[in-house]
Amino acid sequence: MRISIIGTGYVGLVTGACLSEFGLQVTCMDINEEKIGMLKEGTIPIYEPGLKDIVEKNIRLGRLFFTSDIKETVKNSTVVFIAVGTPPNEDGSADLKHVLSAACSIAENMEGYILYVNKSTVPVGTGKKIKEVVKKVLKDRGINLDFDVVSNPEFLREGSAVGDFMHPDRIVIGAENEKAREIMKNVYHILYQNKHPFVFTNIETAELIKYASNAFLATKITFINEIANLCEVVGANVQDIARGMGLDERIGKYFLHAGPGYGGSCLPKDTKALVSIGEEWGIDVSIVDEVVKANDRQKLRMVDKIISAMEYVDGRKVAVLGLSYKPETDDMREAPSITIVKELLKRGAIISTFDPVAMKNAMRYAFKKDEIYYVPNEYDAVDGADALVIITEWNQFRSLDIDLIREKMSGRFFFDLRNIYDRKVLEEAGFEYYGVGR
Ligand code: NAD
Repeated sequence: MRISIIGTGYVGLVTGACLSEFGLQVTCMDINEEKIGMLKEGTIPIYEPGLKDIVEKNIRLGRLFFTSDIKETVKNSTVVFIAVGTPPNEDGSADLKHVLSAACSIAENMEGYILYVNKSTVPVGTGKKIKEVVKKVLKDRGINLDFDVVSNPEFLREGSAVGDFMHPDRIVIGAENEKAREIMKNVYHILYQNKHPFVFTNIETAELIKYASNAFLATKITFINEIANLCEVVGANVQDIARGMGLDERIGKYFLHAGPGYGGSCLPKDTKALVSIGEEWGIDVSIVDEVVKANDRQKLRMVDKIISAMEYVDGRKVAVLGLSYKPETDDMREAPSITIVKELLKRGAIISTFDPVAMKNAMRYAFKKDEIYYVPNEYDAVDGADALVIITEWNQFRSLDIDLIREKMSGRFFFDLRNIYDRKVLEEAGFEYYGVGR
C-alpha cells in the first residue's frame, strides 16, 4: 500500500515520517518547493525532537520520498492524507481553502480508487464538502472513479510529536463504510496490533472530537488561570490547589499549570472555530466563547503584573527568556510572548531576549531585529536588565545560575510566568519575585 501526504508541515511531515517508520512507502508532497528542497537534502524545516533521525533513516531505506509534484504523488497511491493548514478567517471560522484545493488537486490526478484521509482540523461537514469537490472534478473530467472520504484527526503535540504519533492515546477514524475502515486499520496495523485504542465513528463525530478535545484542554488551562488570579488576591497558592484538584481522578493533574495563557497553532484557532461552528448551527457554546476572551485577558494580565510591580518600563531594559508558545518547539504561532512583548514595547521598554530555538521564527513572524535585541544566551539577555521575565519554561531556564543572573542584572524584578522557581530561594538571593497565582 502506497501512502501520500498532501501538506508537509508539522502534522504532515510527522505523519509521513512515522508511517514510513511503520514500514509503509510514503510520499510527502507540499506546494512549498523551498521546504521540499530542504527535506530532499535532509534538512528538517521545523524543530521537533527525534524527527530528523527517522526522516534520514527512512529516506535511506527507500520508504520516504518528498516532492512538489502532485501528479507523481497521487499516481499509484491508494491512501492520500490531507494535512494542510486550516488557519482562522477574520470571524474565527476555519479557512478551508487549502483543504478543498488539496482535495481538488488529488481528484484532478487520480487514476483509480483513492481513500481521502483528512487529518487537518476541520469543521463538521468538511468531509461532505470534500466529497462534493471530488465528485465535481471527476464529473468535469468525464470519468467515474471510486473513492471514499475518512476523517482521521491528529492529536500530536509539538515537542513530543514523534512519540505521540507512535504511541497515541487514541486513533479516531470517522468512516462511512467497512472498506474505508479496513484500509485505515491496515495503515495503522502496528498500532492496531499493539492494542492502541481505536475509536470508529461517522465522519461528523470524528471531526467534532478534535474540536471538543482542544476546547476542553483550553478550558482546563483557562480555568486554572482564573483560579490563579483569584489566588493572588486571597493569598492562596495555585500550585497547591492544582495538586489538590488533580489528585481527584475525575479531574486529572494535566493542564492545570497556571501561566500567561495558552498559545500555539491549535488551541487559539480551534476554540474560535468551535464558537463559529456553534453560531453556524445555532447552538450556544458560551463556555468556549468565554474561554477565548479570558485567555486574551490572561496575556494582558501578565503585562499589568509587570507594569504594576515596576511602576514604569519606559526606557528600562526587560530581559525575556523564552519566546515559543511552549518548550521543545520553534513554533511562534499565537505565542503569549508576542502579546506581552508588544505591550511592553508600546510602553517604551527595551527588550533583550533569548530562546533556544524560536528566535529565527520570532524574527520572521513577530519582531524584526531592529525592534528587540536577540542575544546568544540567557546570561547575555539579562546583562544590565532591570527585570527578567520567563515566558517559556525551557529546561535550561529551570536551572539558571541565580548568582550570576543577580550579578549581571542592574534591577531585581524577577517575573516567573511559569512558576518554575521557588519564591523563597529567589527572595533570599535578593530578587523581588512574582509568580502566577502564588
Ligand atoms: P503547517 O502550516 O505547519 O503545514 C501545512 C503545510 O501545507 C504547509 O507546508 C503548506 O505549504 C502546505 N500546503 C498548503 N496548501 C497545500 C496544497 N494545496 N497542497 C500541498 N501542500 C499544501 O500546518 P500544521 O501545523 O501541520 O497543521 C496542519 C493541520 O493539522 C491543521 O488543520 C492543524 O490544525 C492540524 N493540527 C496541527 C497540530 C500541530 O501541533 N501543529 C496538531 C494537530 C492537528
